[in-house]
Amino acid sequence: MNVPLLDLKLQYRALKSELDAAVHGVVESQYFILGPEVERMEKLMSAYIGCTHSYGVSSGTDALLLALMALDIGPGDEVIVPTYSFFATAGVVSRLQATPVFVDVDPVTFNIDPKALDVKVTSRTKAVVPVHLYGQSADMDGVMEVAQRHGLRVIEDGAQAIGVHYKDGRKVGTIGDIGCFSFFPSKNLGCFGDGGLVTTNDPALAERMRVLRVHGMDPKYYHKFIGGNFRIDALQAAVLSVKLPHLDAWSARRRENAALYTELFRSHGVSEGAGRTAYDAKNRVLLPASVYASSGVLNHHIYNQYVIRTERRDALRAHVTAKGIGNDIYYPVPFHAQECFRPLGQGNDFPVSNRAAAESLALPIFPELTREQIEYVAASVAEFLKLG
Ligand SMILES: *Cc1c(COP(=O)(O)O)cnc(C)c1O
Repeated sequence: MNVPLLDLKLQYRALKSELDAAVHGVVESQYFILGPEVERMEKLMSAYIGCTHSYGVSSGTDALLLALMALDIGPGDEVIVPTYSFFATAGVVSRLQATPVFVDVDPVTFNIDPKALDVKVTSRTKAVVPVHLYGQSADMDGVMEVAQRHGLRVIEDGAQAIGVHYKDGRKVGTIGDIGCFSFFPSKNLGCFGDGGLVTTNDPALAERMRVLRVHGMDPKYYHKFIGGNFRIDALQAAVLSVKLPHLDAWSARRRENAALYTELFRSHGVSEGAGRTAYDAKNRVLLPASVYASSGVLNHHIYNQYVIRTERRDALRAHVTAKGIGNDIYYPVPFHAQECFRPLGQGNDFPVSNRAAAESLALPIFPELTREQIEYVAASVAEFLKLG
């Protein structure tokens, strides 16, 4: 059997007539940059996320860059980021000649550890970027407590977590000063190319981001400060407006798929359940957990990625690949070990991230997977673990 890591054609086919009409409408209008489709999408996003201001931007990376620029981050400043994330979270800090300062993550969620964060704050620290990795909120009470105590700004990297509720029901992207999202096609809400979003409840930051998105220009051809071209296309906005109403149903399907994996790994006798961090005879594979799942709110984990851990990850990876199962590693090299960041000299004392990089493996979790495909994946993993 063949089980891809992601198959976007299935989602497209289900919404084809609506999506084609939306794209065609933009082409007919010949209004391609910002404009009414973008404003409509931004209103829908603000209502969905629960914030006062949303601005569509050119990518998740540019959302982060724009957020840092709006907060005036620059040379001499330090910005604290988890060392275990996608490159963009740290890359944008260096692009502004500020210094990304790496901290280790929590062993269950792989999200920033607020205690490790607290230790890294210095007089130069301006901001912290908690990442809501794989589709689950970071410990925002912990992050906000440290940030408030030290006067830091908070930029949430919600690229993998649009629509995720924190434990108290607030959605990610509304808790810190600025929220950043990506509509890269493999995210839970993907457009037909690159796209992103910034969110805030702060009118002054909103106004700064609105102007910085277009070269810092206001009014036309007058520039008070230096911005960039961080605009989203009308085509992408039209696609997003069609897809957004379906997002919660897709995320629910991902959660059901994750629950089925847990049940199957238990029935195969290779895991007792989700959220464990130590291996033993009954837990040869460690499963992801939705740590805030008890408060009655649904979207605590939207499983942008379903990431398991095993001690013989590379051998398991070869086994499932040979079985026709799509998989990937998010991420094989933490920031502190990346060649481009090694000159920063931040050492190797990040045991949780180093272990995650060596042991984690993402398996297919997308909404349109069939029960048979999930059973096949779980059986293939269990077969390997029982052999070894
Ligand atoms: C995808 C992603 C980004 C970057 O988004 P792009 O739209 O690809 O630029 C940033 N941070 C995280 C955690 C991501 O997963």
